[in-house]
Amino acid sequence: MPAHIGTRYAVGMMTVVSTSRVLDGIAIAAEIKSEVGLEVQVARRHGYQPGLAVVLVGEVPASQIYVRSKVKTCAELGIFSEMHTPPASSTTEELLALVAGLNARDEIDGILIQLPLPAHVDTARLLEAVDPAKDVDGFHPINAGRLLSGAPAAQVLAPCTPAGILEVLRRSEIPIAGARAVVVGRSNIVGKPVAAMLISASATVTVCHSQTRDLAAITREADILVAAIGRAGFVTAEMVRPGATLIDVGINRIDTEAELERFFPNDAARREGFLKRGSTLVGDIDPAAFALAGAYTPVPGGVGALTIAMLMSNTVKAAKMRRG
Ligand code: NAP
Repeated sequence: MPAHIGTRYAVGMMTVVSTSRVLDGIAIAAEIKSEVGLEVQVARRHGYQPGLAVVLVGEVPASQIYVRSKVKTCAELGIFSEMHTPPASSTTEELLALVAGLNARDEIDGILIQLPLPAHVDTARLLEAVDPAKDVDGFHPINAGRLLSGAPAAQVLAPCTPAGILEVLRRSEIPIAGARAVVVGRSNIVGKPVAAMLISASATVTVCHSQTRDLAAITREADILVAAIGRAGFVTAEMVRPGATLIDVGINRIDTEAELERFFPNDAARREGFLKRGSTLVGDIDPAAFALAGAYTPVPGGVGALTIAMLMSNTVKAAKMRRG
């Protein structure tokens, strides 16, 4: 599964050839999806088809792309799916009524409300209205509480991106128990749940955020460093302990020549893609830091690839849990 590469990175004034292990999120996601597809076949033999309802409010182009690929992956794996596209003008009450209807339908095992919602909608109220047993995004306080209380993984619907991170670590045989893990970012979607999952897996975990003092001294202690910040290339080579495992959750679009040159000097393939599309993606970790890593998830093709696979996995898990 993991690959070794000889990618060239600029570190300071030097160009070094990295032998760090690439943790291939696309390959791991394909493995998970194939396992989920087999579970769907078993479910169908038992007389039911796992079903996912996706709610997309308004017309946010990025959300439309995400939702379409979720629906497409459902079809590939034999999961029933349906899409609800209420207008951006929908009120919280109207959306609560939609969720109540989905909660009541037996053939719907998972309900996903695509975020962000329009500003006038009460997001917390809507997420809390989803039946926790159908909360395949793992955002409901009941599921967040179960995750924090260390309930067995088979009984918890955990948020998809953090769950994907743990799959990457486990399937790549990165030791977690006893490891020093540092998570930069404390969002409810990534930072906090991944910290909870790493604690359950017996790592020693430190969570950092925008008010953390002397961040670099803390990140340099990490055996496993998870960056979920939302700032392009924020974690630099100087902030990384050589040999560490770097998990880059960030997805940041850069569109200037200066940024391209800063993050991807001498990278002909990146330049070609950048010229074609007018932009390219960089994570929260400066690619120069990858050269020092023992292993790392690239952007794109790392953690991002896992999120939909884990959504599919959660949908089948929810279906099985609801049917005992
Ligand atoms: P978020 O809600 O904006 O949280 C960002 C976190 O980073 C906050 O906890 C913030 O600290 C911290 N932070 C900001 N500036 C910092 C600094 N200078 N030093 C230390 N910490 C700092 O973001 P998110 O939703 O967790 O997402 C993070 C990144 O992951 C984004 O690039 C997003 O696109 C990406 N993402 C990817 C996936 C996927 O791969 N499928 C899924 C979700 C998110 P405070 O709490 O103190 O403000």
